[in-house]
Amino acid sequence: MARSAKANKQRRLIQIALVISLAILFLVVRFVERVDEEGEPGDRFEIVRVSDGDSMELRGGDRLRLLAVDTPEKREPLYQEATNFTSDLTLNKIGRLVYAGARRDKYGRLLAFLYIDSVLINEQILRNGLGYLYLFKDTDLDRPEVRLMLQAQREAIDSKIGLWAIERAPEPYYVAAAGAFRLHRPGCRSIRKLAPHNSRIFDTREEGLRTGLSPCRNCKP
Ligand SMILES: [Zn+2]
Repeated sequence: MARSAKANKQRRLIQIALVISLAILFLVVRFVERVDEEGEPGDRFEIVRVSDGDSMELRGGDRLRLLAVDTPEKREPLYQEATNFTSDLTLNKIGRLVYAGARRDKYGRLLAFLYIDSVLINEQILRNGLGYLYLFKDTDLDRPEVRLMLQAQREAIDSKIGLWAIERAPEPYYVAAAGAFRLHRPGCRSIRKLAPHNSRIFDTREEGLRTGLSPCRNCKP
């Protein structure tokens, strides 16, 4: 009888230990999940190749196009500078991606804001005058990242660095369609049918781009 009572007691102790272990495990899992949620959301990737100022390849084969920024194409001024700049900040580092709207474009590339540590790379490019803010509906001006980026672009305009240091023959005025994100020369074919009451007119290129517009890719103001 004594042996059986002892065995029962041991079994109970094991059961209690098991319950306590499970409870601790449960709490640890909950805590880790919460830290992950409340810490810094986003997918993490290593950047293994930089293609140009606003696109790169990630470990695992995905390609990334930085959101809301457009850097110079090959044979355009500052192409190499922008590519080197992004490369210096991102290559072989672990980046955190924050998405807005569609996660991929029609080419299958990921579309995201990229943080390395706590530095927003999309913003740094604009701050150094190596790209233009480039918005669509998904990346509107209410997003915190976009507000930082617009502020960075305004400061780059004011300090005339990078793209803002390039001398350009001015047009008499510049045009944007109401609710659209591109700035045009007055003669651009994209705005040929634009009604005057749907037009916004700017005296200078910088005045238009300060509001968050970006240069039209056809007329390249
Ligand atoms: Zn245009």
